[in-house]
This record gives sequence, C-alpha cells and structure tokens, in this order.
Amino acid sequence: MDINIERKVLLNPGPSTTTDTVKMAQIVPDICPREKEFQCIMKPMRESLVRIVHGNSKDYTAVLFCGSGTICIDIVLNSLLDKGKKALVVNNGSYSQRAVDVLNYYGLPLIEIRQPIDKLPDLNIIEDSLRKNDDVGYVYMVHHETGTGLLNPIREVGELAHKYNAFFITDTTSSYAMMPINVYKDNIDFCMASAQKGIMGMAGLSYIIGRKEIIEKSMYYPKRSYYCNLYRQYEFFEKTNEMHFTPPVQTLYAARQALFEYFNEGEAEKWERHKRIMRAIHKGLDKLGFQEVLSRSIQSGLVSAVKYPDDPNWDFDKIHDYCYKYGFTIYPGKVETSRTFRLCAFGAIDENDIKKFWTVFENALVAYRIKIPIIYKNYDL
Ligand SMILES: *Cc1c(COP(=O)(O)O)cnc(C)c1O
Repeated sequence: MDINIERKVLLNPGPSTTTDTVKMAQIVPDICPREKEFQCIMKPMRESLVRIVHGNSKDYTAVLFCGSGTICIDIVLNSLLDKGKKALVVNNGSYSQRAVDVLNYYGLPLIEIRQPIDKLPDLNIIEDSLRKNDDVGYVYMVHHETGTGLLNPIREVGELAHKYNAFFITDTTSSYAMMPINVYKDNIDFCMASAQKGIMGMAGLSYIIGRKEIIEKSMYYPKRSYYCNLYRQYEFFEKTNEMHFTPPVQTLYAARQALFEYFNEGEAEKWERHKRIMRAIHKGLDKLGFQEVLSRSIQSGLVSAVKYPDDPNWDFDKIHDYCYKYGFTIYPGKVETSRTFRLCAFGAIDENDIKKFWTVFENALVAYRIKIPIIYKNYDL
C-alpha cells in the first residue's frame, strides 16, 4: 500500500510530525480488540514504555489509557492520594496550573507552591513546606513546562519528596522519549506521556509509568472516578492484558510502529536530533533579532517561547496563515504568556526543515512589512 501524503512540519507543542510509516501503520484489517491477536501488541508495548525511562519491569509498570495527555494528569492525581493526605504541587506554568485545577475539581486537599514562570523554582520553599506538613502524600511537578519551555529540576525535587516520605509524580508529557529520563536517577515514582508527543505516534493513547508497589497499595485508596482510576486499569491489564474499555485500536498500531522507530533511532541520537533542531531555531531567532521569554540556560531545548515584536504591523494570525500555506505550523503562547508564540523541536523533523521554515517565515515578515531586525520597546508579557 502506498499513498502519497503531503508532509507538514508541525512546530506546535504536539501532536508532532510523524513518519509516513507510522501513518500507514494505522491502516490494518478491522479487528475486535478482545481478540488474542490484538492483545499481543499491548504487553510488549507496556514493557517498551517502561524501558524508555530505564525502569526495571520488576519495579515499574506502564498503564495505558485512551485519551489525550491530560487524562494522565487527572488519573494520577485522583487515584494516588490516600485518605488524610495532601497533594503538594509546584505551580510554575500552565501545565502545573492544570494539575491544580484537576485537584480543585475533585475537591482534594492541596498545598500549592506558586513560583515564577520564567525562573527555576526555589527548592528551599519546597523543602520548608514539606518540613511543615507531614501529611503530604505526593509531590507533583511538571518536568518540562511546555508553555514557556522551562525545564524543572525534577531530580532535586524528587529527592526532597523522598526525604520527607512523600512519593514523587512528574508530568513528563513533553520530555518523555525526547530527552533521556531515568526513573531511578531522577527519583521518579510516576511519570506520564502521550503517544502524539515524544514517541511520534498518533493522538488518543496516553500512559502512566510508575511504581507497581504504590499502584498496588492504591487499591485501598478512595476511588474517586469510575473510568479514570489507575488501580482499576492496572488490575485489568494484569489479569487480561487488555484495556478495561475499548482501546484506540488504530492508534495502538501506530504506537507500535513508532516505538519500533524510537528504539531504531536510539535515545542519545534522538536527543541529539532534537537539540540540533533547537539550535537551528535559535539561530533563526538570533538572525532576525527575536527575544525569548526564558534565558537559554534554563530552557529545555525542546520549546522556544518567543516574544511578539512591538511592531504595529505584527499580527500573529497573519504570519501563522502565511507559514501554514507553505506547510509549517506555528503556535501561540499560553494564557500567562499570551504575547508569545512557540516553536517546538518535536517530531519527525530535522534541521533542514527549520532552515526552510526560516526562509518562509522571513518572507512572511517582509510580506506584512514587519521591521527586521525585530523591534522591542517596553515589552510586557
Ligand atoms: C501536551 C501536554 C499535556 C497533555 O495535553 P493534551 O492536550 O491533553 O494532550 C500534558 N502535560 C504537558 C506538559 C504537555 O506538554
């Protein structure tokens, strides 16, 4: 089977550009997911997902869910808080704000540590809070805040969590399978991701990777959701090798192919490629005189949040539409960084795509008479 699919370069923060082989892997004969033939793809997939973060399958397991990445945030937070315990969330961006929102929706007790979105968080404040509150069940932090591109110090915060007898959950949705992560060295009890990001698969499949021992203990924790409960899904997998309810069948076939391609490319090689893409992004920004929200020393190397120019002719939508016409997708910022746009080094692309992108982008600036180098006056987020 060979279909000519137009190639698009997605510089938005997921879904990512996929290879044609991953796209084509979805075209399979119809199958009932309760067939043995289908179950055979789940077990090795769960093991591969644990292997990506260097977990030993004696200690760690991967539990799959049908949904976008946010379903994992919902599930870990509501399933892993025991009665009488509090959640502690380090809030320094839109994705950690989402965790705070989820906990509030469930009405769960929460200690929120608000930190600036454009700086590394203060570890002393986190430790003080842990020292004063001996009823913290888990500490939650986003690894890579996709809204700004900030890379949080998860290893240090995970260590603090353990020092005060809490376990550590981190949202690695926008770093998993892109930069190397090691659950042991990084002090991670639970992490998560979604197939449309790091592994470069299709949207609709998400996974939580975590300590079996804690999941098994959570059997006795209050159940707050029928569908979104970690233990219930885990137990079903252990018994049957299946998802509790209908899985995203074709997305799973794509994920299987994507994982095959991930291991083929290699962890270190893939991370080098992402860094190479980001270098090409930075080079183009510097050439045009664009400024970013974060200093490069605290950036993840996967997302650049770029400040809008103070130019009367600047109109993000027009620039977006121009680039889109030529096959490049750029993305606006998040609420607290609303006067920014983002360029992400995700997906099956390489530095040559970025070189072509900058030519198109520069043509767009010229077409809409935006001054080069870019003008900044009193920039305010
Ligand atoms: C993409 C992303 C998610 C999930 O977002 P969905 O739109 O639900 O897929 C969660 N956390 C982070 C850090 C992300 O980048």
